[in-house]
Amino acid sequence: MAMKSDAGHGLDRDMAMQPTNCNGTTTPNKSYTGCHANGEAGFQTPKQNGTNRRTPSSTFTFTAEPTIEDVRRMQSEFTDERDWNKFHQPRNLLLAMVGEVGEVSELFQWRGEVAEGLPDWTDSEREHLAHELSDVLIYLVELAEKCHIDLPQAVLRKMALNRLKYPASKVHGSAKKYTEYSD
Ligand SMILES: [Mg+2]
Repeated sequence: MAMKSDAGHGLDRDMAMQPTNCNGTTTPNKSYTGCHANGEAGFQTPKQNGTNRRTPSSTFTFTAEPTIEDVRRMQSEFTDERDWNKFHQPRNLLLAMVGEVGEVSELFQWRGEVAEGLPDWTDSEREHLAHELSDVLIYLVELAEKCHIDLPQAVLRKMALNRLKYPASKVHGSAKKYTEYSD
């Protein structure tokens, strides 16, 4: 059935996303600070102390490819080859994505808190998680495509809004929602 994803999406490796600059290329180990009017991206090398200090966990990075556009194209080709576009309207894709989020949740269910890096998981369990996270990403990208949302650019705009909503100097170390902060 078209909406059941575990049969595969034509993607034989884990999906990978990495922050990109305005030209779609990656700049590893630097924080994106905004898209300039001239189309160039601003990046900031993380500081080792102060509010921009990165924890050791942030040393994990994705590979540069496939890009989000690569994922969109691969899934588009996959559905075209199977004449499945007639099933892949936005609402159906949304429901399919939520179903895949449920499949991710099942892998964490009843385990209690899980340490970063999943040190207690078997290789098989980690691969299962990689598959389910990929299903979520694939449907998310296809949903954005079918809604004509340019997802990479939307992420840049949303991150800019998040920085305004949660200034590091104000919220550092706090889990409060933005409505709970006073000037
Ligand atoms: Mg799945």
